[in-house]
Amino acid sequence: MDRIRMKNPIVEMDGDEMTRILWKMIKDELLSPFVELNTEYYDLGLMARNDTDDRVTVDAAEAVKKYKVGVKCATITPNAERVKEYNLKKMWKSPNGTIRSILDGTVFRAPIIVKGIDPYVRTWKKPITIARHAYGDIYKAVEYRVEEKGIATLNFTSEKGETNTQTIFSFDGPGVIMGQYNLDDSIENFARSCFGYALDTKQDLWFSTKDTISKKYDHTFKDIFKKIYDEEYKEGFQLAGLEYLYTLIDDAVARVIKSEGGFIWACKNYDGDVMSDMVATAFGALAMMTSVLVSPDGFYEYEAAHGTVQKHYYNHLKGQMTSTNSVATIFAWTGALRKRAELDGTEDLKLFADKLDKATLDTIESGHMTKDLSLITSIENATIHTSESFILKIRENLEKSI
Ligand code: NAD
Repeated sequence: MDRIRMKNPIVEMDGDEMTRILWKMIKDELLSPFVELNTEYYDLGLMARNDTDDRVTVDAAEAVKKYKVGVKCATITPNAERVKEYNLKKMWKSPNGTIRSILDGTVFRAPIIVKGIDPYVRTWKKPITIARHAYGDIYKAVEYRVEEKGIATLNFTSEKGETNTQTIFSFDGPGVIMGQYNLDDSIENFARSCFGYALDTKQDLWFSTKDTISKKYDHTFKDIFKKIYDEEYKEGFQLAGLEYLYTLIDDAVARVIKSEGGFIWACKNYDGDVMSDMVATAFGALAMMTSVLVSPDGFYEYEAAHGTVQKHYYNHLKGQMTSTNSVATIFAWTGALRKRAELDGTEDLKLFADKLDKATLDTIESGHMTKDLSLITSIENATIHTSESFILKIRENLEKSI
């Protein structure tokens, strides 16, 4: 059988622990036998980042700018324990954070829906994609603990030396203060990524803030989204029959719960942090969430939403059997291959990605799955697979369809 050729490369970013093991299995069993993989490889494993003083992460992000499409394995974000465990030169920053700051993108997270893994919310039939504005707000806030009576003020001094001062609160006793910020530029990029991705995936876009309470801060988000929509995307949305809905965050929550799904929900940084975990849990399993970073310049980086599954890896190192779910990592690869196919106009590569997705879902729907899914499935007498036998079962189904 002739293997499918790729016109242009995708940027391949390898990672850590159990997901690194799955990465190799997926390539060996599900990709390389069928596709002449054309990738530019970057090892983002923790030791390689340490050895290159994290240069490799920056190089990988630059490569995504060059080739427009990347696929990334989960990686360790070191904390104090990891610094000790791996004897690191320093506590390197999160690779995802570094890549995101170079591509200036927005992360879209969506559940993979499969029969037999039923969402907790009965009405949900289609995925709900969460777009999180991963910049500023509470994550870059300055905080102060007030211990005694006094006045807190908010001061801004312009470059020319003009100042604006407002009282935040006159404290009679102990309390807390926080100052946070965001930038019009970043909000505009967020809006463009969201509207663009909605058009790309043909889904409605919802956006929510609390502008009735926060009349300057949140209102700025609302106004910028409206301006960009009216000036740049309204026509495209109308032509595609799509809707842009702005609503208050509390109204959005109520609507989301009563909806069928099938739309993108754009959230401010903190809301997106919380809501993406809520949506992932309510749809069933963390290992069934995909994630794509989309930059306003049209660069795409695909990955699984979960981490490196550390506990399974330690069991694997002890020679014990693991049953780690590879679905989100497989979908990261098919997402990247499909985008590559779309940009290059290579129909056979797109068809392959669709077939691999289908073979993966068919495998689960026929009752073959990893342990995490077997605990929540409505399919009776499901067969629990090891990490490897699950991938081999998918290969069997894939071969039938090819
Ligand atoms: P994790 O996602 O690896 O695991 C969280 C829980 O979900 C665990 O109980 C795990 O067993 C389960 N789980 C996750 N994926 C699974 C899968 N594919 N199959 C079966 N069960 C699965 O997150 P964590 O334990 O908080 O973090 C482990 C490491 O991953 C950390 O070093 C962290 O820095 C890193 N991390 C990386 C990313 C990323 O690269 N995008 C994201 C999150 C965490």
